[in-house]
This record gives sequence, C-alpha cells and structure tokens, in this order.
Amino acid sequence: MSRSVLVTGGNRGIGLAIARSLAEAGDNVAITCRSGEPPEGLLGVRCDITDPEQVEQAYKEIEEKQGPVQVLVANAGITRDQLLLRMSEEEFTSVLDTNLTGTFRVVKRAARGMLRARRGRIVLISSVVGLLGQAGQANYAASKAGLVGFARSLARELGSRSITCNVVAPGFVDTDMTRALSEEQRAAIVGQVPLGRYGRTEEIAAAVRFLASEEAAYITGAVIPVDGGLGMGH
Ligand code: NDP
Repeated sequence: MSRSVLVTGGNRGIGLAIARSLAEAGDNVAITCRSGEPPEGLLGVRCDITDPEQVEQAYKEIEEKQGPVQVLVANAGITRDQLLLRMSEEEFTSVLDTNLTGTFRVVKRAARGMLRARRGRIVLISSVVGLLGQAGQANYAASKAGLVGFARSLARELGSRSITCNVVAPGFVDTDMTRALSEEQRAAIVGQVPLGRYGRTEEIAAAVRFLASEEAAYITGAVIPVDGGLGMGH
C-alpha cells in the first residue's frame, strides 16, 4: 500500500535521491521546494522550513492531496562555513534555525498525525561532521549533533505508539553542497575516507529507504553512518 511521504529539500541533491527511491517503491512522495518547478512524479509544495506558517500550509496541502504524512524525511539543510572568531551571530543562528529548529518544526507537525495513527517513520539527515566536528563548521556541526539528541528523545517519547525516529549520518556526498569546496579540500577529504571516494546520493537513499520500511520496525534512536568509513568508532 502506498504511504504518504514528505521529504524536505527533496527538490535536489540527497533529498531528491531519497524522494525518487521512495516513489519508485510505490509511495506517494511530497517534497518541499522554495523555488522552481518540482521534479516530475513528485508533489512539490512551496515551503521554507524556517517559516512556521509555510510549514503549516505545506502540511495542509499534503494532507489534502495524499493524506497525513506517514513517513517524514527531514533532509533540508544549509552550510555557512566560517572560522569561529569570524563567525557572525547570524551565520550561527541561521544554520541552527534551518538545520535544527527547521527539523523541529516539520517533525512536530508530522508527529500529530502519526500519534493519531499510532504508527510512523521519522528519519533525520545529520552528518558525519556532527560526530567528528570540522574546522570552519562549528555552526553546522552543532546543528547536526543536535539532531542526534533530538531524535533519541523522540525515540523515547514516541516509541510506545510504534513511531520510530532514526538518524542517517552521511559522509561526503557529491552534491551542490560539496561542489562548493575547492579541489584541494575535496582531495583532502577523499584521502581520509577508507573507501577512498565520495558517496553517491543513491547510497544515502538506500539507508533511508530501509529505515522507512516495515522491516526496520524494531530500529529506533539509531544513528546509521553512510560515510565510507570516515566516522567509524563514533
Ligand atoms: P544541497 O545543498 O544540494 O540541497 C539542500 C536542500 O535543502 C535543497 O533542496 C534546499 O532547497 C533545501 N533547503 C535548504 N534550506 C531550506 C529551507 N530553509 N527550507 C526548505 N528547504 C531548504 O544539499 P545536499 O543534498 O548535499 O544535503 C542534503 C542534506 O544532507 C543536508 O541536510 C546536508 O546537511 C546533509 N549532508 C550532506 C552531505 C554532503 O556531503 N552533501 C554530507 C552530510 C550531510 P532549495 O533548492 O530551495 O535551496
């Protein structure tokens, strides 16, 4: 039976691969997009997750068109890299507001319907950087580490209603986000990855698809690395 799925930031990059993978498996998949046209086969809803009003409107539209969200993948995220002493208050708070508070907004709204239905799947996209830290990314790493505590709290809070909440922590994946890095930075990163290469968006999607499936019913509060071994031991 097809489920109602929402993938935030599903219009490109990792989010799009996740959305496509779930749609191929037969789910009805909505994605947020802030501009442009949504990719074919997916329900595009206008939504900036930093705006609670837009989040509410997006959920209303999804509920109308494909029913209450049964699977939520909170994937939307940004970077604003800067060394600590040069990092402005705005660079710090804007990253936290999108990556952590934005995730809180979409998860809270989805949980309402999931609690009523007494089932649900929540998957948050964190990062290996949230576990290892990264010079120049204190804001981003803090937001991604925050998702782990958030998910584990929800795993405890929502578990009695058969709602699972898990985290996928990708390593470096070839998307617009990492294409912004210099060739030198990219080479240095690959040098540290045991598998010796960047990840592919489909490889992140495969882990998300599993966590969203019936087979993963007994997994909650887990942090699943998909990072070529970069963060192992953490
Ligand atoms: P991209 O930069 O390619 O895409 C980011 C996505 O997030 C876009 O769809 C973007 O929408 C959306 N987004 C950003 N801000 C908002 C907002 N305020 N409201 C709604 N949507 C928003 O990133 P990736 O695909 O690489 O990353 C996806 C997730 O994976 C992120 O959370 C990222 O932190 C994480 N990640 C990525 C890694 C990588 O190496 N690429 C590694 C580890 C984690 P729009 O098109 O409108 O800008």
